[in-house]
Amino acid sequence: MNEAKTLLFLEDDKDLQTLVGAFLREKGYRVEAARTAAEARTLLSKMPVDAAIVDGLLPGVTGADFIRELRKTLPDLPVLFASAFWKDLKSHEMLTRQLKVARIIHKPYRPEELFLWVNQLFAKKLPPPPTGPRALADVDPLRDELAASLVALNAEYGARLKDKVEGLQTLLGEAREGNRESLEQASIITHKLHGTAGSYGFSEVSLAAGRLEDALRAGGDGARLDWGMVDVAFRELAATASVPVMPVHKELPPAVLPTEGVLLVVDEDAELLAEAERLGRSHVVRVLCARTADEALALARKQWVDGVVIHMHLGGEMGGVQAAHLLRSAEGLGSLPLVFTGAKGGLEERVVAAHAGASMFLPRPFTGPDFVAAAERLVAARRPERARVLVVDDDPEAISALVHALASEQVEVVGLGDAHRLMESLAEHRPDLLLLDVQMPGPSGFDLCRILRSTPTWQDLPVLLITAHLGLEFRLAAFQAGADDYISKPVLREELRARVQARLERARLSKERVERDALTGLLTRKPFIEGMRARLSEARRQHRSLALCFLDVDHFKQVNDRYGHLAGDRVLARLGRLLGSRFRREDVRGRWGGEELVVGLLGETAASAKAILSRTMAEVAQMTFDGDGGESFHVTLSVGIAEAPVDGGSLEDLLRAADVRLHRAKSNGRNRIEV
Ligand code: GH3
Ligand code: MG
Ligand code: MG
Repeated sequence: MNEAKTLLFLEDDKDLQTLVGAFLREKGYRVEAARTAAEARTLLSKMPVDAAIVDGLLPGVTGADFIRELRKTLPDLPVLFASAFWKDLKSHEMLTRQLKVARIIHKPYRPEELFLWVNQLFAKKLPPPPTGPRALADVDPLRDELAASLVALNAEYGARLKDKVEGLQTLLGEAREGNRESLEQASIITHKLHGTAGSYGFSEVSLAAGRLEDALRAGGDGARLDWGMVDVAFRELAATASVPVMPVHKELPPAVLPTEGVLLVVDEDAELLAEAERLGRSHVVRVLCARTADEALALARKQWVDGVVIHMHLGGEMGGVQAAHLLRSAEGLGSLPLVFTGAKGGLEERVVAAHAGASMFLPRPFTGPDFVAAAERLVAARRPERARVLVVDDDPEAISALVHALASEQVEVVGLGDAHRLMESLAEHRPDLLLLDVQMPGPSGFDLCRILRSTPTWQDLPVLLITAHLGLEFRLAAFQAGADDYISKPVLREELRARVQARLERARLSKERVERDALTGLLTRKPFIEGMRARLSEARRQHRSLALCFLDVDHFKQVNDRYGHLAGDRVLARLGRLLGSRFRREDVRGRWGGEELVVGLLGETAASAKAILSRTMAEVAQMTFDGDGGESFHVTLSVGIAEAPVDGGSLEDLLRAADVRLHRAKSNGRNRIEV
């Protein structure tokens, strides 16, 4: 520190004042302590101070009122506000925007933490940026189209870098002449370069900008700046910025945004496949073609597919149904959205299609609008499976860098520039993970994190903090605020992806654990009921019917008794897999309890649901199970079906009616459906 800074420390708690005051003095600050607003006023009338630390609640007056009064005479004095009470973004906004509080510090704080924020006011001792710059090209294979689009973006940012640096040069020139506004602008641009360039792969630029930022801050204001140092740092930055760090791979296909859908069309008709490809090209759908079920399976295993369009009679009568079964039985593809192409047949074909999982029929040969509508429906059905990440950063360029580093076919990224809108944005996008910049003009990432951790809805949301500061104290403060992880600026894309993916995967698994029954893989009762309620209101809105089916294994107690409990478990597991891979995506399937399973079929009547479920029963009758003693056996099901709105409008009505009918199926001899 060139010169000791004087701090007004207004705090009525004597112990805290002693402790923190000693700590700050030890660190080289001059601390003027006051316990009341009156003491502070007297002090300020006697001497100038460089910053003030104001407690939120003082004897007889609030900290906010004191700052409001202070602002009349000292409109620009940096102020830190320490409080245990504020909990919402509104009061945060009032303090930071109206009263120009530089930082709100959550009480209780540790002296080290306060020291960091004080230091930041004067930006004296920023820890150096991380070492070991790595060109992004080294770690990114740049193989897929997404990577190609990233390369294009990097190149675009790189092209603008030169302009930015030239603009910076102009501003620094003006600042040297004494223009304070230009100096401020130059500092802002440098800060952003420091934080963002690395995300675009320009790590060298980012590091150089960090050094320039330090040089600019070292003077505190224009008058005391060491212009020699600034010049050196700027020349370094200019040198790194004009070097083309990112090679542009010309042989790669043009930039493609990851928002396009991917559709697999399975058909033996080459002309139809060519037409599908053509329609895909003109409607931003990537179309993959396969001629057989095996080819389709190989493709779907290899890459992400939003949905599959299958000829219902692929390679023979109802061959498409077998193809659908084959695809759906592959790991991870159990609920792949399906469309059948064919002549819109009678009830029989429709029932077969619904059971096999086709959400709609596409007449052959299809027209452009029909194909696009089907594609849209399939993509919309699959996309909710994508994980959503919300990025909060005041720098739009940092947001777009993070968006493009993270967005993929499995991850959707939404950016938010105004941290005050966090709650609305959370409600709107319902993200699976939150990335927060620590240093923002309004509430810091720490503040937001604390608010979330005290909000029941978002308490468990994974939060990653992004910070330019790597010191131990910052890392500790991040965890104290409730963050799950932190990442340092400049952000290395590979590290960011790895950390985010790991968190998302863990969050997904824990959600699965809560919602899915381990033995059958079906929804447990509570999420099933939630899903049914949603379908019920959808059916009501669209004036469609909805069928609820109760399925119960016949004489299951005897199965356990004769063939062993483990054999019984295997029966339930296979039934669960069957229900999971048949039916359409919009149909809800769950384990009600024991050997009772439930299925909700949107748009079906009791009669059509009966036709669909009899196919399930037929498939179950075909299954051979192994007993624990090596015997083989078969099982049958009894089913009771209710229909909305015929049997009632509420879920409770439907459950009751379906249960009554299930018991009727039992007393009428089992292995049957009652409606
Ligand atoms: P019904 O045809 O009338 O339905 O006769 P049932 O024997 O199937 O019906 P009951 O409700 O009397 O018995 C159900 C049995 O299912 C009793 C229970 O031990 C067994 N069960 C429930 N959950 C499980 C499970 O997770 N694994 C195994 N192996 N058995 C289970
Ligand atoms: Mg039973
Ligand atoms: Mg039972």
